[in-house]
Amino acid sequence: MEHAYPDVDAQDWNSIQPHIEALLAVDLTPETVRAWLQRWSDLESVLDEEVAWIYRAITENTADAEADARFKKIVQEVFPQWQKAEHQLKEKWLSVSDYRPDDETREVHRRFKAELALFKEENIPIITELQLRSKRYQEIIGGLSIDWQDEVLTIPQAEALLSDRNREDRERAWRKIMNAYLAPRQELNDLFLDLLSRRRQLAKNAHYPTYRDYAWIERGRFDYSPDDCLTFHDAIEQKVVPLATEMYRHLADEIGVARLRPWETGVGSPWLPTVDPNPQPLHPFSDVAELEEAGQRVFNQVHPDFGDYFQSMRDGFLDMASRPNKAPGGYMNSFPISGRAYIFMNAVGTHRNFRTLMHEGGHAFHFFEAFQHQSLLWNYHSPMEFSEVASMSMEQLSMPYWRKAQGGVYDEADYRRAVIEQLFGVVTFLPYMAVVDKFQHWLYTESPEDVTASDLDAKWAELWDRFLPGIDYSGLDAEKATGWQRKGHIFGSPFYYIEYGLAQMGALQVWRNALNDQTQAVADYRRALAAGYTRSLPELFQLANTRFAFDADTVGELMDLIREQTP
Ligand SMILES: [Zn+2]
Repeated sequence: MEHAYPDVDAQDWNSIQPHIEALLAVDLTPETVRAWLQRWSDLESVLDEEVAWIYRAITENTADAEADARFKKIVQEVFPQWQKAEHQLKEKWLSVSDYRPDDETREVHRRFKAELALFKEENIPIITELQLRSKRYQEIIGGLSIDWQDEVLTIPQAEALLSDRNREDRERAWRKIMNAYLAPRQELNDLFLDLLSRRRQLAKNAHYPTYRDYAWIERGRFDYSPDDCLTFHDAIEQKVVPLATEMYRHLADEIGVARLRPWETGVGSPWLPTVDPNPQPLHPFSDVAELEEAGQRVFNQVHPDFGDYFQSMRDGFLDMASRPNKAPGGYMNSFPISGRAYIFMNAVGTHRNFRTLMHEGGHAFHFFEAFQHQSLLWNYHSPMEFSEVASMSMEQLSMPYWRKAQGGVYDEADYRRAVIEQLFGVVTFLPYMAVVDKFQHWLYTESPEDVTASDLDAKWAELWDRFLPGIDYSGLDAEKATGWQRKGHIFGSPFYYIEYGLAQMGALQVWRNALNDQTQAVADYRRALAAGYTRSLPELFQLANTRFAFDADTVGELMDLIREQTP
């Protein structure tokens, strides 16, 4: 691949270091900053491109020892050096006197400035320790299993039993899964209380009154405050919980039970029902060749340029089939030197897989648009709260074309089911998201210094009852109260979750606009995508002709829209 640094081998720090030294040696003035930033950006892109290839290799084949060795080498030998160098480069840029950032650089300048302000030497060992201990959480959870009919099942395998049509079997499986989670309850309590006190120390060392203040800066949340989040929680409680409860009740009727019980819902996604009223699950495609063709037809119609982007990915940048030794899940990754976008997933023919393609397609088109309009690496992406607007909007923008009559994959009856499932998922996610977020606001700002695990349980249970009354947990107090232990974000990525809720508000507005005028809505959406990270969140939302708002009126209007559009 041709680029500005043909002599650099991203695996070899010795080949990178001279270029860092050269950058650090430049006599930087307001006039020379822009060209200097480009040199830095181009160098960092070489590293990012390599990391994207390595990540692709290790997820496509988890048994690929050579890729694994490359991964370890770059993590151990290059990343630590790179982080130090990056810190120096940031300091150098930010110390240029009389420098005024322009439209292209103001967001990245503001971000780097906040990162430097947060930096405290004495926090480095705490951060390392936090990373190691969060990994311990994954080990504990990853090691859980249940015995089922002479077989040992992992939790993801066991979760499949929750869609069984026999209710007693579902209940039996769910209780076994819960018992597996409850076994390390004490260890998880201790682990979390330890993480909590270390996070409090982190904030103290950086002179912030609470860890929430620290986390806010760390996550680059410049455009909304903790109070805005609390407003959003209230709006959800007022406007979304009633609709979600109605939807749960309706579903209970359809599957013929008096009330939904937790064994009708998932474990990893405890807000999502696992039982379909129709015994025949949606089956939008048989193999990935069909999925690819369907994706092509759908994206062509959302916009011909999106069709072209997707077409370009079909030349070796899609890995969608499920097979042994492939990592789980789905993601989109981008290659900043070659300008390519890549989608990874494990498709087996479900509606969820089809939806994943729509979602990751949105992420990919975001990259293509930004890559064409931006030239600094840091502007190729956008804040998380907006990246997810790009992907979630594509799920909804593509909806009209899911019908066979429009080139899609469903006849009228199945199309109706798919739309209901889509909107059901959107609505019921929000109350759960609010519980996860509100719990953490309490944890890091209100809970006492000597908070105990039973305080945590009590708080979680209280919030759960307020926000998810539609699922009947009676007689399951321990299972309910320990729900926080089953949410990895609370252990490993504090405060990271509300992004999905905020983004959904944007995506629903894009959809509302599209219902009025699809062409105009797509044009607005593209304009926001092309801006990459050069605008603040409210500005990005505005470019997409939406409002960055989370008050009860906005949320209420969007819930009304969903009611109206539910077939
Ligand atoms: Zn996403």
